Amino acid sequence: GGGAAREAQGEPAEILKRVFGYDSFRGEQQAIIEQVVSGGDAVVLMPTGGGKSLCYQIPALARPGTGVVVSPLIALMQDQVDALRALGVRAGFINSTLDLDERRTVEAEFLAGELDLLYLAPERLRVPATLDLLARGTVSLFAIDEAHCVAQWGHDFRPDYLNLSVLGERWPDVPRIALTATATRATHKEITERLGMDRAKHFEASFDRPNIQYRIVAKDNPNRQLLRFLTEEHPGDAGIVYCLSRNSVERVAAFLNDNGVKAVPYHAGLDGRTRALHQSRFLREDGLVVVATIAFGMGIDKPDVRFVAHLDLPKSVEGYYQETGRAGRDGQPSTAWLAYGIQDVVQQRKMLQGGEGDEAFRRRAGAHLDAMLALCETVDCRRAQLLAYFGQEQTGEKCGNCDNCLHGSPDAFDGTVPAQKALSTVIRLRRERGQSFGTGQIIDILLGRRTAKVIRFDHDQLSVFGVGEDLSETEWRGIIRQLLAQRLLEVGGEYNTLSVTEEAGAVLRGERQVMLRKEPKKAPRASGGSGS
Ligand code: ADP
Ligand code: ZN
Repeated sequence: GGGAAREAQGEPAEILKRVFGYDSFRGEQQAIIEQVVSGGDAVVLMPTGGGKSLCYQIPALARPGTGVVVSPLIALMQDQVDALRALGVRAGFINSTLDLDERRTVEAEFLAGELDLLYLAPERLRVPATLDLLARGTVSLFAIDEAHCVAQWGHDFRPDYLNLSVLGERWPDVPRIALTATATRATHKEITERLGMDRAKHFEASFDRPNIQYRIVAKDNPNRQLLRFLTEEHPGDAGIVYCLSRNSVERVAAFLNDNGVKAVPYHAGLDGRTRALHQSRFLREDGLVVVATIAFGMGIDKPDVRFVAHLDLPKSVEGYYQETGRAGRDGQPSTAWLAYGIQDVVQQRKMLQGGEGDEAFRRRAGAHLDAMLALCETVDCRRAQLLAYFGQEQTGEKCGNCDNCLHGSPDAFDGTVPAQKALSTVIRLRRERGQSFGTGQIIDILLGRRTAKVIRFDHDQLSVFGVGEDLSETEWRGIIRQLLAQRLLEVGGEYNTLSVTEEAGAVLRGERQVMLRKEPKKAPRASGGSGS
């Protein structure tokens, strides 16, 4: 390279103290940092607020050269760089907000070995000139932030992330660290594969956020319910209220202001200046409420967000976890509050059906929604369910800090018998016929309906035909959805067919009880998603 490689600046523990002012590492930070400092790759799953940034910032300081950070959060780069400079770290960024002169300056600093950290937007790496620039300087590591953006079925997919495998190909000796706060096992695998990080060490921090109280309430008059929640439990607190549409964002913000709660709207329909103003007011003022679409919040580092409220159902558990995770980063008690109603289901199903994407995309989106619904419907500890969704080992203990643990669930019932009926229908189809079907056909069999499809497959000859006539279609849909949520049933294949899991055996043998939440009386006819 042309520039002089920058000297390394010490040992990780010493840098932690001297530069960042912290006494000790948190969780797995130290192990992650050691892995990268020694030149190895790392894939890091750590919840929001867990301290991911230090995992690449410290190695960037400890290794000679410049740490290159790929981040989709263009709006935050200036803030991040300013914060680092305030600590004496030589940081810069290149994105579309810079004019030519500013960009040339940053490039020159990089080439001269005068940068510890260089933030880049992923689309920059599509440009050969950027890759050539990096090749002419000294790169100490590549950090790929928000790495779940590489997952094509995820909720934040960014096509430019698919190009990032070029980093490993072109710089095989430069360590790479991929970081995300949202990843299921499947996403985790996809990150590793698509970025070509098969030699990486994997670090998975606990996804539990014990200081966040999870509550999901039945929606009847959402604005009033929200106002009550805010005035009774969080007067004067800073928080975020998420709504699905720009219109409802504006309406709710106005409603709160009319009722004495200081609130500002935030959505993609507002001009950039207003958005930036509202974001910085939220960061700086005490006790301001931001009413926002999900356009707000990625990468926002405000430690004292006391609540995150959802007035509309998030589209996925990943989204819900990420959004609620913005509460309580300082470790103090905080609330994740969601009002959920029948209309949410209807609306989201409709959006899925009429929405963009091909059939496979819609099916995946339907599965995401089903998992979110299952979280809403669970009679068990919400935290346990959330952690199970992210594949985290369960202790079987209740958390004591979610609505179901705190109040118990009034509408729970022993659903072992209906669960056995549904599970054995799925099993019989497989064992006796070698077939697997989706939710719709299973329900038709349980209800003893002689539909054309039932007759075509002779399913009225099965011994389980009609064993579920005591319940309605809606109830069966709820039951099957909950069996999926409890991982007794699995959905898979091109057609989202059902199969039973290993754990279902204990239920079928009568060794395990299944608790279910009763379906609300006027449940909608679910369609799309995993139904067939
Ligand atoms: P993430 O990117 O995982 O959401 P951050 O890197 O923004 O989290 O860190 C969250 C907060 O925790 C920041 O304010 C950061 O300074 C602080 N933090 C991180 N590591 C430590 C540590 N070892 N000791 C004390 N505070 C830390
Ligand atoms: Zn709980």
